[in-house]
Amino acid sequence: MSPEGTHKIVEVTASGRSGYQIVSGARTRLPALMRAAGVDGSACLIVTDDNVAELYGSAIENDLEEAGFDVSTFVVRPGEASKDLEVVANLYRWAFANQVDRATPVVALGGGVVGDLGGFFAATVLRGVPLVHVPTTLVAQVDSSIGGKTGVNHVSGKNLIGSFYRPTLILTDTELLSTLPDREWRNGLSEVLKHALIRDLAFFDWLRTNWDSVLRREEHIVPEMVERAAQIKVDVVIHDELEGGLRRILNFGHTFGHAMERIAGYGSLGHGEAVALGMRAAAFLSAERGADVDIDALGHLLQDIVPTSIPPMPIDWLLQSMRRDKKRVGEVLHVVLLEEIGSAVVASDVTDDELRSALQHALA
Ligand code: ADP
Ligand code: ZN
Repeated sequence: MSPEGTHKIVEVTASGRSGYQIVSGARTRLPALMRAAGVDGSACLIVTDDNVAELYGSAIENDLEEAGFDVSTFVVRPGEASKDLEVVANLYRWAFANQVDRATPVVALGGGVVGDLGGFFAATVLRGVPLVHVPTTLVAQVDSSIGGKTGVNHVSGKNLIGSFYRPTLILTDTELLSTLPDREWRNGLSEVLKHALIRDLAFFDWLRTNWDSVLRREEHIVPEMVERAAQIKVDVVIHDELEGGLRRILNFGHTFGHAMERIAGYGSLGHGEAVALGMRAAAFLSAERGADVDIDALGHLLQDIVPTSIPPMPIDWLLQSMRRDKKRVGEVLHVVLLEEIGSAVVASDVTDDELRSALQHALA
């Protein structure tokens, strides 16, 4: 049973191990939901970043304190640079100073950065303590908080250190998204669209129909959109929790997009912006190979997500980056393509010529 005023989006169970819930509800329900999920510690550690702390930190701290938790909060700098082992070391120091024990929950309150960092910390401190996600960005609500990936970056590359670790609870409150900067909203829409494209034609049609309301974040649209997009991610990771096969389709647009982020220089293109350009490339390539994909209709939606000015990215550099990355991990290049809208396949026989023309189309 979920506490009053909340509703369960889904119970995530896979591989016969204990499941966890993704619940949609107001953030004021957090303490009750944590207790209902079996969290019985008295101490509680919140990991968040400056922006989120400023907006929501003290209200959530107060709610937890009132429910009997003894709360300590660790605030990191916003941005990817906080996904760093040195920050993790500081988190451990802080946790031991605050008498963390195996029952102490870690609440990751923030976007993808805080979720990955706080998740990795929770997974490793004392070999794992209960992890509660309160995702505050669209990306985190529909994508990064779901599926159990945690981790930090390394000088050799992004997300190279981490583990799969199941949260105890994910509380999704779409009202938190009202304060997101517009660019972050559009970055998140990229992953929403990705989920529709790889898995759900009806959802894609719904997005098309409601696109203006989606861009304007209208209240009657956002909860349904977030829930449908999150469901798709759940559906994929339930079938492939440890990324053996199916989960690869979540990389739609990402093989191209990651290369663009690297070549443009991290930060100059948002992740979602790069993925939107990447999806433009992947959809073009799919159509070239005969898929029934209306790239004009799709391009129309993507137009509102891609950056208004695209930084210069030489095609040869992008190509090299895509190939080199895979060689290092001893893999061939897998590119996710669409068979049609709502259905994805993984191709491992894509030629350089095909990649080049897809990139040219995407960046034109
Ligand atoms: P993502 O979730 O896109 O992976 P981040 O965790 O880096 O990325 O969050 C993106 C930015 O948005 C950060 O600067 C973060 O502080 C800020 N942010 C996160 N949630 C909110 C929110 N609800 N309102 C305003 N800003 C937010
Ligand atoms: Zn992504």
